[in-house]
Amino acid sequence: MSVRFKSLIIISATILVLMIALNYYSRVILMDSFKDLERDDLRQDVERILNLLSDDVASIDTLNHDWAAWDDTYRFIEDGNPAYVESNLMNQTFAGVNINVMLFLNAAGETIISKGLDIESMREIPVPAELVDYALANWDIFGTPDPEDHISGVVLIPQGAVMISAHQILDSEAQGPVRGRLIMGRYLDTTEIDRLSQLARLPITIRTLDEPGAPPDLKEAGTALLDGRDIVVKPISDDLVSGYGLLRDIQGQPILTVRTEVPRAIYAQGERALWFLTWALIGASVAVCAVSLVLLDRMVLKRLFKLRDDVGSIGKAGDPQARVSVTGNDEVTQLAGEVNVMLEALQRYQSEIAEKKALEAVNRQLVELNQLKSKFISMASHELRTPLVAIQGYLDLMRDGSANFSDEHARMLGIVSENTRRLTRIVSELLDLTKIEENRLILGKERVSVADLMETAASELGSSLRKRNLTLSAEIQQALPEITADRDRLAQVVINLVGNAIKYTPDGGHIRVGARLEGDATIHISVSDNGIGIESKHLERIFDRFYEIAEVTSHSTGTDEFMASGTGLGLSIVKEIVELHGGRVWCESEGKGKGATFHVVLPTEAGGSVANPERAEKSVAVRPVPATGTAETSPADRNGHLKVLVIEENEEAFAALKGVLDGKYELMSATTSGTGIKAAIWKKPDIIFLHARMPGVSGYDICSILKKHANTRSIPIIVFAQPNGDGESEKATTAGADAFLTVPFEGGELTTLVEGFRR
Ligand code: ADP
Repeated sequence: MSVRFKSLIIISATILVLMIALNYYSRVILMDSFKDLERDDLRQDVERILNLLSDDVASIDTLNHDWAAWDDTYRFIEDGNPAYVESNLMNQTFAGVNINVMLFLNAAGETIISKGLDIESMREIPVPAELVDYALANWDIFGTPDPEDHISGVVLIPQGAVMISAHQILDSEAQGPVRGRLIMGRYLDTTEIDRLSQLARLPITIRTLDEPGAPPDLKEAGTALLDGRDIVVKPISDDLVSGYGLLRDIQGQPILTVRTEVPRAIYAQGERALWFLTWALIGASVAVCAVSLVLLDRMVLKRLFKLRDDVGSIGKAGDPQARVSVTGNDEVTQLAGEVNVMLEALQRYQSEIAEKKALEAVNRQLVELNQLKSKFISMASHELRTPLVAIQGYLDLMRDGSANFSDEHARMLGIVSENTRRLTRIVSELLDLTKIEENRLILGKERVSVADLMETAASELGSSLRKRNLTLSAEIQQALPEITADRDRLAQVVINLVGNAIKYTPDGGHIRVGARLEGDATIHISVSDNGIGIESKHLERIFDRFYEIAEVTSHSTGTDEFMASGTGLGLSIVKEIVELHGGRVWCESEGKGKGATFHVVLPTEAGGSVANPERAEKSVAVRPVPATGTAETSPADRNGHLKVLVIEENEEAFAALKGVLDGKYELMSATTSGTGIKAAIWKKPDIIFLHARMPGVSGYDICSILKKHANTRSIPIIVFAQPNGDGESEKATTAGADAFLTVPFEGGELTTLVEGFRR
């Protein structure tokens, strides 16, 4: 439904309801007051009629007084002089004063003379005996011996109502003794009522209260009047209203109902006024409605519709620079302004979103490139590691004295071996880096003695120290508690820090390692040297990946051991490992040439916490200590037979492997994927050989399963496959294999590889 239509309906409905209410209440209030006016008016009319009747009676009374207190009448009662009758009781006299009855009674109550006249026909009629009887029966009321006593009023006799007056007959001086009573009467007949009607200018009806043929309204009004109401007013139709009054007789008894009726002029006037008001209101309402709608349409709706159309077409065109236009200076204009502000904001957001999208695309590319880089580093390191382990193995065999080399060759072999070791370390660092990036660096949890760690580092780096003529002193607090941590990774930390100290301390320098307990549960390890030192601006950054201080090489002593050509990865890996243990590492140096001290603090329960909880949530997990104590039997610590598990379905292939490895190692075999997984988890071999193409669960799947299982994740797994396979090496890397070989293998290659993992 359109706003226009809605407004029309709402305004019309409101006006209609108001009209009905107004009409109703004005009708109730106004018409009531008009009815009151009508009632008051008619009440006055009825009172006027009753007053006319009273005046009528009073006029008879006055006339009677003149006649009764007159010497002629006084004498006539005594002497019955006929001349009095002839000269005074003439028909014309009766008609002249409008009297129908005269009754002369002497003091004994005897009728001296009585005369009745029908004025209309001017015929004498007898005085009703009932009137005479009434006068005699009520003699006491009619008078007392008091000469002044008289009475007047209406009496009801069977012939009808009569207005009468009774006076004592006295002389003209109004002196007694009283000789009798003169009674005069006028019939309240139709002639008299018509006369009164003309005087009052009102129709008058007079009926007795109990008259059988009286109209019902008169009877009803009579009853109401008898109930005590002095005047009753009652509408008898829409055009006429009647008023009723009560007439009492001389003794005060109600005898007659007087009625008049008038047209309802006031009421009709009220009706007309009300209708005029109603139509005027309707006209005004229609006008107000029409004007409001026109104004609403012009001032609001049309402009709103234009605004809507503008916004709609902007939306369709999708033009971010388009704006709406509305003239004026009111709320609609303000709305248009707000719409424009919103459009501007939208335009801004649109360009921000476009920029964001572009940035996201670039970011995605960068992430992809980074993943590609990580993948490449991971694969390259894997590929490099296997041959390097083999080269190293052969070199060690050659240097063990099995071959006869001249000193020069032995020296050259030593250099080759040293560089191979360095290369292996770089490859290991790169592998660690990819593991850290992919959150695959999993910590073991063993009881580790810090003193042992120091010793391991010292023996590992012993030859370098000696060659560089460096002294190493250790300050290890007595009875230092063991730490729960990953032994190999902590050894890596200490070796790296001491290795750096060797690298960056000129020949003849001094290196100090220390370990002490801080508080109850923190071990503080420090490695200090009096080497080339580090400027303060580098102190934070040396823990960043690939960060190297450019001028470090200029401090090189020039010997082989102090090449100072690292990768810039060592300290970042140290930091990651320490933080994964819930610890902290930092460096202090007073500047160039002033040596450096590296501090590592570790909680004694280091293996139970990780530095970066966000990353911990992803995949870094701490390996629980196996019930059987794998730490005590780890390949690096043992000199006895290594347990080698071969998972291979083909018996001939197993026999070939057995031929090479048997005798040197404790061999176990599994010919199905299921038994292989179980054997690996329960027997906990030191190394696993795994054929990539196992039926059912493939070798790669077995490898991923074992690399995820707490008991087996740290066991080196060597995956082998036919050389013609596609991307086998890559699959092995993805599955987490530590080395990949193609068959057939050479005997030496296998053993050097196994020995490499023993180290
Ligand atoms: P690199 O493989 O280059 O040694 P690291 O991450 O181990 O990488 O070290 C980062 C840098 O920190 C080094 O290039 C070196 O400049 C500086 N550095 C590390 N240890 C020391 C030290 N003991 N004395 C002086 N400089 C050091």
